[in-house]
Amino acid sequence: MSTLLCVPIMAEDAAAALADAQHAKNLGADLVEFRVDHLFSGEGDEQGASACEQLVRESPLPCILTCRPTFEGGDYDGDDAARIALYERLGTLDRPPRYIDVEHAVYTRSANLRQKVHLAIDHPGRRREHASSLILSTHDFKARPANLFSLIHSMRECEAASVLKYAWTARSLRDNIEALDLLRERDRPTIALAMGEAGLMSRVLAPKFGGFLTFASLRDESATAPGQPTITDLLNLYRLRAINTHTSLYGVIGWPVAHSKSPLIHNAGFEALDHNAVYLPMPIPPEWEHFKATLLALLDATWLGFRGASVTIPHKEHLLRLARSDTSRRWIIEDRPRRAGAANTITIEPDGAVRITNTDIDGVIAPLTKAAGGALNGRIAAVLGAGGAARAAALGLLDSGAHVTLFNRSLEKAQHLARELSDSAPDRSITAAPWDQRPGRAPHIIINATPLGMSGGPDPDASPLDDHHLAALDPAAIIMDTVYTPANTPLLRTARKHGLTTLDGIHMFIAQAAAQFQAWTARPAPIALFERILHETEPPQST
Ligand code: NAP
Repeated sequence: MSTLLCVPIMAEDAAAALADAQHAKNLGADLVEFRVDHLFSGEGDEQGASACEQLVRESPLPCILTCRPTFEGGDYDGDDAARIALYERLGTLDRPPRYIDVEHAVYTRSANLRQKVHLAIDHPGRRREHASSLILSTHDFKARPANLFSLIHSMRECEAASVLKYAWTARSLRDNIEALDLLRERDRPTIALAMGEAGLMSRVLAPKFGGFLTFASLRDESATAPGQPTITDLLNLYRLRAINTHTSLYGVIGWPVAHSKSPLIHNAGFEALDHNAVYLPMPIPPEWEHFKATLLALLDATWLGFRGASVTIPHKEHLLRLARSDTSRRWIIEDRPRRAGAANTITIEPDGAVRITNTDIDGVIAPLTKAAGGALNGRIAAVLGAGGAARAAALGLLDSGAHVTLFNRSLEKAQHLARELSDSAPDRSITAAPWDQRPGRAPHIIINATPLGMSGGPDPDASPLDDHHLAALDPAAIIMDTVYTPANTPLLRTARKHGLTTLDGIHMFIAQAAAQFQAWTARPAPIALFERILHETEPPQST
């Protein structure tokens, strides 16, 4: 049976909840969960109970009826007997709720409540062809329950439960591996979800491992649990319906990654090429220990189908360090990351070897070569900055035969980088110069590899070059900005005013992503599609 897509609806009043259920159906949901924590207040609330009856009777989709108590993360603070009596009453309807959800903690607490739950799912007065089934659930909003194994054992002992549901807040991507493993080991229909931003993988990959259902919110603000994706994202961005046993897993590893645009383009690319894969944000906290433990866990769980990843700030150096130090598997370190001191791409080879490369270099060189109308050999290039992006730019330029000068705020760092790169390419020309001498004498190419002009950066309104710098340049000079949020930076705006050729950071972003896509699929990336998607969020700004 394929994994059901369920939209939870926090019911405030019956009419609005039913309208939401219809909306969920229109968007492609299979099931709705009516959360009636607010609608029903407890014993004697006849109005609330009638509203619940109306929900069940008029629901446009099969429904789960849940009245979640405060002690299990819900909002219902009445007594348990009253809400179980509500389930029992709904169980007598001609068409009772398809499922009722009862917490394991409550079910095991009292024989009396247990008996009432059994009446709710198997009521003597009910017509037999329609019956509610029991979802027995457990939730931990802090972390993975310390007693998870005994909990699993105890829940499996409950024969009356048709579906077992485990949900806990993921503190790391590794929680997904455990949740998905629970699905693989299931003894009956099972829901296993890691909540929170780190838990997205467990929600998206539920169909790969036979999960009974996965939840999606109707709107961003209507999520009933942290990290719940919207139904639109689950169906359109992550293509839930296309996920099956054979789907491969890719993602972007970084911190933070929630706003990365990589999932937009790679998922669309996989769809366009009919490549059976999904690409997810994979947040890993900045420390080396987190990176090492999490990446090794993803690689060790070979059943997961993890085939590759983009690696971004702050883990590019960590990736090279891990490849150099881990002896538990075979790593293939390409020449570029070795020389750049950083890697941004992981590809798992068919034999399990892990290949790492650096496509940031392609990101700079591919669009520059195109804009320059051919080879970069012999061109004079000024690189502003001496961090990771500057390093990739300088290395690519040197390998293409250009003469490079690095200008950096801290001269010492630029000198150090220049020395390091000239050691790795002794026949090439690279020097360092003070920041206030930028952009040097008659450069053909200038690359901004500082975060100046980046929204959320140290100075979003600043440009690394002033009007007078740009006015004095050869009109054929090319100005490239690595900053891509926004694409239209103050530097590029002024350069365009002077009629110079400009390349925005989206060009670099697309070119580095295209090289990754090709490494994973062995097919050229659909670059026009990538451009269209990225420029839909921001208009193109190159000349
Ligand atoms: P990084 O390693 O932190 O290096 C930042 C560099 O910028 C350093 O050389 C630093 O100088 C300099 N800098 C920082 N603030 C400055 C200021 N206020 N004035 C002058 N110089 C300043 O960062 P990175 O990874 O290289 O990233 C740099 C930029 O490239 C970011 O905007 C990033 O978004 C962009 N990028 C884009 C892509 C893409 O695909 N388009 C890919 C990678 C990076 P000091 O050494 O003196 O501190």
